[in-house]
Amino acid sequence: MSGSLVVVGTGPGKAELMTPATLAALAKATDLVGYGPYLDRIPPARSDQHRHASDNRAELARARQALSLAAAGRQVVVVSGGDPGVFAMAAAVFEAVETGDPAWQALDIRVEPGVTAMLAAAAEVGAPLGGDFCAISLSDNLKAWATIEHRLRSAAQADFVIALYNPASRARPHQLARAFEQLRSIKAGDTPVLFVRAAGTPEAQVLATTLAAADAASADMRTLVIVGASTTRRVGRWVYTPRSEGPAS
Ligand code: SAH
Repeated sequence: MSGSLVVVGTGPGKAELMTPATLAALAKATDLVGYGPYLDRIPPARSDQHRHASDNRAELARARQALSLAAAGRQVVVVSGGDPGVFAMAAAVFEAVETGDPAWQALDIRVEPGVTAMLAAAAEVGAPLGGDFCAISLSDNLKAWATIEHRLRSAAQADFVIALYNPASRARPHQLARAFEQLRSIKAGDTPVLFVRAAGTPEAQVLATTLAAADAASADMRTLVIVGASTTRRVGRWVYTPRSEGPAS
């Protein structure tokens, strides 16, 4: 039997947000490859399934390991959190294909979509992504901080709702504060800002504030930060961005 590689995402955390297509791929897998805590979210499907848990930062090495296993005839599933294509393993797999053994290009490789953190976070508070929006990762492991600041300013100038992934880590405590400074120089102080922690899980927590009052210390690595557009507003206990540019009709 020839090998295959499917890249899946577990969704934001709770089992119901894993798609049936992802569950079907997991049930067929002989080998699961991924960051340990993501593999722990997956219930054991079969006794002959091998789990290759690795460190969160060793993404390219993990992708190469998965491709080697598939080339050796195994049914491999690479597991990410959220959606596998959003700041996650799917791109690492294709980067490994591009730079690796040319024979890997003939492999049966497929990506299953998942529920990304931004969508789970938006659903916790209403519909803040109801208009045009963008997603920016604040991690500068793979890009320069100057690039991030340029994108933040451009997104603010274009009045997108901005979803910030990877807002903070112990290795990078000051970046979210610097990001807020950039955004404050362009956007109004009363712009809604949402800190959504553990979105789409039973432990979900929401802090709704404004850009002027936003404190970077409110975010950790399990937080998704949403910064509104000029039209983003509160209604009752919800926050939403209308689909139209004008006032409510
Ligand atoms: N592939 C993932 C994102 C990986 S980047 C996805 O599609 O969701 C990791 C970042 O995602 C975290 O630092 C955090 O900003 C965000 N994140 C992941 N799960 C989250 C959750 N349940 N609630 C809030 N933010 C989350």
